[in-house]
Amino acid sequence: MTGNEHHDVIVVGGGPAGVSCALECFDVQLDTVLVELRSVLGGQLPEISHSVRNVAAGRFDDGSVLQRALQESAAILDERAYLSHPVTRADLGDRWIETRGGRWSARALVVATGTRRQELDTAPDGAFGGAVTYQLEGEPRRFVGREVAVIGGGDSATLDALVLARTGSTVKLVYRSEHLTARHDIVRQIHDETRIEEFAGWELAAVKGTDRLEGIELVRPTTDERRPISVQGVIVKIARVPNTTPFEGQLDLDRSGAVIVDRDLRTNREGVFASGDVVSNAYPRVAAAFGQGVLAARSVLRYLEGRS
Ligand SMILES: Cc1cc2nc3c(=O)[nH]c(=O)nc-3n(C[C@H](O)[C@H](O)[C@H](O)COP(=O)(O)OP(=O)(O)OC[C@H]3O[C@@H](n4cnc5c(N)ncnc54)[C@H](O)[C@@H]3O)c2cc1C
Repeated sequence: MTGNEHHDVIVVGGGPAGVSCALECFDVQLDTVLVELRSVLGGQLPEISHSVRNVAAGRFDDGSVLQRALQESAAILDERAYLSHPVTRADLGDRWIETRGGRWSARALVVATGTRRQELDTAPDGAFGGAVTYQLEGEPRRFVGREVAVIGGGDSATLDALVLARTGSTVKLVYRSEHLTARHDIVRQIHDETRIEEFAGWELAAVKGTDRLEGIELVRPTTDERRPISVQGVIVKIARVPNTTPFEGQLDLDRSGAVIVDRDLRTNREGVFASGDVVSNAYPRVAAAFGQGVLAARSVLRYLEGRS
């Protein structure tokens, strides 16, 4: 589609939240389009390398299997789902978006743009022949029995630290805050694991080496104290960043850059809603994104019917 178009609702983002929202809007016969920057639907799903056991619609061997199921469900949207259509600019007051040179407007917009991985300048992904990585899942055996640093204090980082420790690695777990932010059950396991040493309140300042990784330098920002540590691997699992660039300066965001919404998923702009991981205080789970997508659709419908 090119040129100017007008619809009832435009859903931006084709992950679990966006697809579920578009399906619900389609079901209630709203003129709906979904725009997705990538060439496939599914958002973060292909990044999940473990089995997904917390979606009550079945057991999925990994995220790609769940992604295929989502694509099958989304097939009904047919030509209403625009792949490889990044939204580059938007005016949320007049409710239009720009994508691939076209400007499309709608009576309501849903922002379901999710989050992206954050990369540290000090630790480029793949450096030292892959000894620095953001994706342990791709090569779980690479660091077996080695000294490694895991950067991050959330669920992903701590789960990786446990996997590594249980396969015989010695793990330095480095995180900025004074306490781990991971789930309590994981934190307990971390504290019980003798192969994991915690560095609370430290940040990664540099990765060191010539042709191979030899170590890292940590810094304690509060005192500027520095500490070299010898490691043969660095796994980075820090917080993801909400995708809100096209809407910059137009939406109220929290300190992490996520979109602030009310309980009906309304943003600060009239007729603009948000759902899924991009929303402030989201619980980043597939099922939560599915549920929020449907709720956003309900709010859109109420708004369009003048009931909100
Ligand atoms: C490694 C990993 C493991 C996980 N494991 C689990 C698990 O076991 N169980 C579980 O429930 N959850 C898990 N999750 C979390 C789950 O994948 C997310 O909560 C879920 O994908 C969020 O869906 P979403 O639609 O809100 O966002 P996303 O999945 O991030 O989708 C957002 C979509 O918006 C698109 N987009 C962004 N910007 C634009 C733009 N400007 N224009 C157009 N499109 C745009 C993106 O390309 C993307 O397709 C995991 C996530 C990761 C990364």
